[in-house]
Amino acid sequence: MTYLEALLWGRATLASAGIDEHYLESEVLLCHAIGKNRAELYARLSDRLPDDRAEAYKRLVKRRLTREPLAYITRRKEFFGLDFAVDARVLIPRPETEMLVERAVGAVRERFGGDGKRAVLADIGTGSGCVAIALAVHLPAARVYATDASAGALAVAERNVRRHGVARRVTLLRGDLAAPLPEPVDMLVANLPYVLDGDYPNLAPELHHEPRAALLGGPDGTDAIARLLRSAPTKVKPDGALLLEVNEAHAETVAEMARAAFPEATVRVWPDLAGLPRVVEVRRG
Ligand code: GLN
Repeated sequence: MTYLEALLWGRATLASAGIDEHYLESEVLLCHAIGKNRAELYARLSDRLPDDRAEAYKRLVKRRLTREPLAYITRRKEFFGLDFAVDARVLIPRPETEMLVERAVGAVRERFGGDGKRAVLADIGTGSGCVAIALAVHLPAARVYATDASAGALAVAERNVRRHGVARRVTLLRGDLAAPLPEPVDMLVANLPYVLDGDYPNLAPELHHEPRAALLGGPDGTDAIARLLRSAPTKVKPDGALLLEVNEAHAETVAEMARAAFPEATVRVWPDLAGLPRVVEVRRG
């Protein structure tokens, strides 16, 4: 089998299983199986694929047929222009969460200047660490706490912290939501689980491979966010802020909960790129 034949086989196999991005995914899986990039693959399309690589590739395609997410198979996902290690212990970074980071970086720069000097931030429920690390990379003088209840998630986050060279400024803490924070912060950022328990069976099959604890937010999807808001007043400085990613169906409910927890604060809801309400911002100061 040549590289081209492998590519065409993978494309057809994934397409027949109803995988929309079969074109791109067959290419990504073949590159992963041979340890080469796209340009290197296209430079050898008519060469013969070594048998052991062909076998490896077929195994990867078969894993994808079980609806295992592509990112878990390749063990990586790009987020905010950075490459993150991921596996089934962490939620796969989502494009809508980039907006949370963008808002947080903008708000910190406004108050603390371009490098975020003296800003102390926290990412609650960090998972792969993608939000905390993207903040640390783009605010090169800020300090960031990143919490997670899952030891497995923190192991992945630690790898990513080292990969991006921010171990000196990102402190990983194990525990429930904001409980492990050793000091009040200037900005608390969180993408907590917000899927309704009852919606779980109807989620795309890929999501069933992700940690349930990172997705499910209780009967109405707001359990974790409500708990965080209850503890937040002592964890965020009196002139600090919170930015919370929310389910588009809950933005107003969460905004009301935030107004109740922080009666003196300004609460706003921001849309994502699809125009859906996605981030609730609370400014205390
Ligand atoms: N945005 C994710 C989804 O739609 C959910 C992530 C979360 O619960 N925070 O699947």
